[in-house]
Amino acid sequence: GSRIAETDPDLYAAIVAEEKRQRNNIELIASENFASPAVMEAQGSVLTNKYAEGYPGKRWYGGCENVDVVEQLAIDRAKKLFGAEHANVQPHSGSQANTAVYFSVLKPGDKILTMDLSHGGHLTHGHKANFSGKFYEVVHYGVSKEDEQIDYDHLAELARETKPALITCGASAYSRVIDFARMAQIAREVGAYLFVDMAHIAGLVAAGVHPNPVPHADFVTSTTHKSLRGPRGGIILCKEEFAKKIDAQVFPGIQGGPLMHVIAAKAVCFGEALKPDFKDYQAQIVKNAQALAARLTSHGYRIVSGGTDNHVMMVDLRPKGLNGADASHALDEAGITVNKNSIPFDTGTPMKPSGIRIGTPAVTTRGMKEKDVEQVADFIAEALGAIGDEPKLHAIRDKVFAFNRAFPMPM
Ligand code: PLP
Repeated sequence: GSRIAETDPDLYAAIVAEEKRQRNNIELIASENFASPAVMEAQGSVLTNKYAEGYPGKRWYGGCENVDVVEQLAIDRAKKLFGAEHANVQPHSGSQANTAVYFSVLKPGDKILTMDLSHGGHLTHGHKANFSGKFYEVVHYGVSKEDEQIDYDHLAELARETKPALITCGASAYSRVIDFARMAQIAREVGAYLFVDMAHIAGLVAAGVHPNPVPHADFVTSTTHKSLRGPRGGIILCKEEFAKKIDAQVFPGIQGGPLMHVIAAKAVCFGEALKPDFKDYQAQIVKNAQALAARLTSHGYRIVSGGTDNHVMMVDLRPKGLNGADASHALDEAGITVNKNSIPFDTGTPMKPSGIRIGTPAVTTRGMKEKDVEQVADFIAEALGAIGDEPKLHAIRDKVFAFNRAFPMPM
């Protein structure tokens, strides 16, 4: 029986409803996943009660002998998983990991060269509404109009012209392999730090399904909750020479007490990612993304850059005369969860962009294979053909729920 059900029925009802939504709907948000029961158990443990400002062996509080073990396990596993010299596992989120990196080597007013949000970059990569866009002078690079992939030659030119202190790469909406060796070469040539935010692709990197930025970059950050399939949170990996600066910037620079229950869940996640079957899982994510993209193409949709090498794709809806807002609403009605998204050189507006973003980490966790995601693509096409027809969308939803029951959540 649930304690929350007894003590707080209103809250309990919302949790139960959310569990039902997650169980029923086909989850295609590229940044979401289903954490394992072991990850969930660590997050719900007594570790949430403990203050542990500082780092293992160097705490400001007594009674840290057990959480020291927990954090050291997380650090050692993260270093092993990604081949890093140093790992800080305390950032509460991806945004905080990125904040610590910027603060460790930049002064306000310094110049950063980063990927434009509208071409796939993240808010923390210099968007004007984010601290990174307010504190630093931002120059953006993007993808080329011809192939919708990062234009490294143009990036190199921009770097030579503008002489940034730091170059940020990594993305929230980019479906192609990023050439980290080339990025490092460009950064070195102009004397800039290279900072890779691998939040979206960290699981693929851990499994060797995407090249690893760690050997090439001065700093690498990630969230732990996307393709990596851990708890919500962030990590920073860096060269030993920056270890002290990074640690001091996370605490006491921008955070207080670490979330030891979340750090324990990160340790569980890294342990799971070190197991052989994690490679199969990540390889399947990519196979599924490619199968889904191909099937959507056969239905007449255009995939930005012509396809995907990773877990995500951007679908251009304009060939069908649709926009991302109407499409994501209709898919919601049909029990399929995606997000509307701008695509490069979008002709729509931020509220009505031309695309939707689709990712396969979550459905792959639930056991879908290529033929299953092809069926998902067929559901998507059927729903987008029924925009505005609520009864039809709800009939599709019944089929979606019935189909999805064959792929249980890891509970
Ligand atoms: N970096 C990238 C590339 C992301 O896609 C995201 C999340 O969407 C973040 C950073 C931020 O992570 P968080 O939401 O944990 O702050």
